[in-house]
Order: sequence, then C-alpha cells, then structure tokens
Amino acid sequence: MALTARKPEGFPEPGGVIVTTIRANCPSCGDVHLKAANLTIRVCADDEVGSYTFDCPTCSVPVAKQASRRIIDLLVSSGVQMEVWKLPAEIFETHEGPPISPDDLLDFHLELSRDGWFEELSVMVRKSMPH
Ligand SMILES: [Zn+2]
Repeated sequence: MALTARKPEGFPEPGGVIVTTIRANCPSCGDVHLKAANLTIRVCADDEVGSYTFDCPTCSVPVAKQASRRIIDLLVSSGVQMEVWKLPAEIFETHEGPPISPDDLLDFHLELSRDGWFEELSVMVRKSMPH
C-alpha cells in the first residue's frame, strides 16, 4: 500500500491552516506528494467499492486506484472530497429476444421515412412489453 497521509510541520496554507500531505504512487513517476484537494474519492453506492483518482503533479497523467474502506476513511479524514456514484440502471434490466441485426436496423431506417412511424413504433413497443 503506497498511500499515506501525514500532517507535516511548517507547511501552512496562506490562511495559517496546516495542510495534510498525501503520498500516492504514480505508475511512471513513483511516489508523489499531493494535497487533499488534488485527489477525489469515488465510491459506488451499489457495491461500496471505492477508488481514488488524481492527476500526477509530475507527469500530469490521470491515475486511478482501487481503495479499501480503511484507505477511504483515511483520505476522508484528510479532507479529500468523496463522490458517490451508482451503477447504470441498464445493468439491472432483463433483456429478452435476439440481439438487433443489421436487417432490423435497415427496417427501422425505412420505418422512420414513413408518416406516423412514431405511433406505429409505440404500438409495437407496448405489445412487446411484459405485463
Ligand atoms: Zn507521474
């Protein structure tokens, strides 16, 4: 685990607040030192898997790493902002029938050129929906 947070002495912000330095690891540059504002924590609300991201201060490459609950707690207590995100709803949809083929796409294209295509499509979709 290459991520530590410490409050060094003699590193005050302009307002006189002591800034926490966070040591993280860039795949290209190795250990780099960041401020809390330079990192973002992302936690998935559905499976609670967490990660943190930052742009490397040396090479500017965006870095993303998985983080355990312990590391997330450490980062939150150091003042790192946390974003909570949800898996897209489409993942939980059930899909029935065969995949769309190029013929289906061509039929749809031809359908769009006719008047009243939207109403016809609405009826077709309603018929195919499970009750
Ligand atoms: Zn780097």
